Amino acid sequence: MAHIKPALVENIRKDIENLNMYNETPGEGITRILFTEQELKARKYIKKRMREVGLEVEEDAIGNIYGTLKGSNPRLSPVWTGSHIDTVPHAGSFDGMTGVVGGIEALRVIKESGLRHERNIQVIVFTSEEPTRFGKGCLGSRAMAGDLTRNGTNYLVDEDGKTLSKVLDELGYNNEQFHLIKKEKGDVYGCVELHIEQGAILERLGKKIGIVTAISAPTDLIIEVEGTQEHAGATPMPVRRDAMAAAAKIIIGIEGMARTSDNPSMVATVGKLDVFPGATNVIPGMVRFTVDMRSDNFKEKEQIINKIEVLSNAIGDIEGVKTSIRIVSHEYPAVADAHIVEVMKGVCDSQRKEYNLMVSGAYHDSMFVSRFAPFSMIFVPSRGGISHHKDEWTDYEDIKSGVDVLAETLLIMSNEKENTERNE
Ligand SMILES: [Zn+2]
Repeated sequence: MAHIKPALVENIRKDIENLNMYNETPGEGITRILFTEQELKARKYIKKRMREVGLEVEEDAIGNIYGTLKGSNPRLSPVWTGSHIDTVPHAGSFDGMTGVVGGIEALRVIKESGLRHERNIQVIVFTSEEPTRFGKGCLGSRAMAGDLTRNGTNYLVDEDGKTLSKVLDELGYNNEQFHLIKKEKGDVYGCVELHIEQGAILERLGKKIGIVTAISAPTDLIIEVEGTQEHAGATPMPVRRDAMAAAAKIIIGIEGMARTSDNPSMVATVGKLDVFPGATNVIPGMVRFTVDMRSDNFKEKEQIINKIEVLSNAIGDIEGVKTSIRIVSHEYPAVADAHIVEVMKGVCDSQRKEYNLMVSGAYHDSMFVSRFAPFSMIFVPSRGGISHHKDEWTDYEDIKSGVDVLAETLLIMSNEKENTERNE
């Protein structure tokens, strides 16, 4: 088999730099929020680049962009790659953009290598992965998964009180075609998203490629501890029912549960605490705090919720406080397709690249894609693990290396016959 050409660092660097000229906050990181002037310009740029490398460009009713490299048998289901171009405020230059620019470069390489591929290969720009404008992330991929409907767009409201539905309308997207966004199982052969790691595991290991075996799913809890609000000077220690002291013991316990887990993807964070009445000279009568828990193992998250319940009850008894736990969200992790992972391992071996099998702690559009298509992801190293910050950095050479793995993986997948050997 003829060899696939290498990706060009220069192309990747130029596209990422050009894309990041569309920015509301020059000098203070990248701010490019869904359907703002800068984001619309970035979309235009990407569509132009897709056409330049010979892709057919389409857009669906929520603004997901599809750049298609036609295969010899376009009736077969397509192979996907892609990511997003919107950012959080004052973001870095690589989160999302790497997968879009890298995807376009991978398709260019496949095309110019002149190698035969049966399936269409598509690079997707998913609409609004970040929740910045409408408070909900992954809008484009969510709609593909059927989790956001046309009616649902009436309930997503931005800071100015405008609904997503109205915004789409004003931009000329056809509401009547919203239902066409949804994908069914079998519509897409498989998807590989290239993304920066946003953590420092690869850097620590000195490896350049991460192969994602699962995306950790969040579980969010709100725990309330109710004690008695009393005078901080006049109430002796033995008779107190201090909600804060009790909450602190529960929080330490939760941290310990995650810390002692054998599963490195298991993490738990208490990041927000409301204290009532919140005065220096008053024993807190009520404390409410959040728990953000993530793992690639749903069962383990269930077990930890149970343990938190047992602990809260025990501390409630000892401290004389009342505790309650509310489960706000409890998501299933997305498990990557074993076959795609095997293909990528083979590609890394043939390109003589060391890889690390890893769980993605952050969620990505691939989490929603997993509902209708087999997926995996390629991670490239983030310097110092910094992300969602203007100092976010990934070496362009490392992105190029990821694109080389991506291109060969997409090419192999595009010549596979059927889903017969796939695990469900
Ligand atoms: Zn991202």
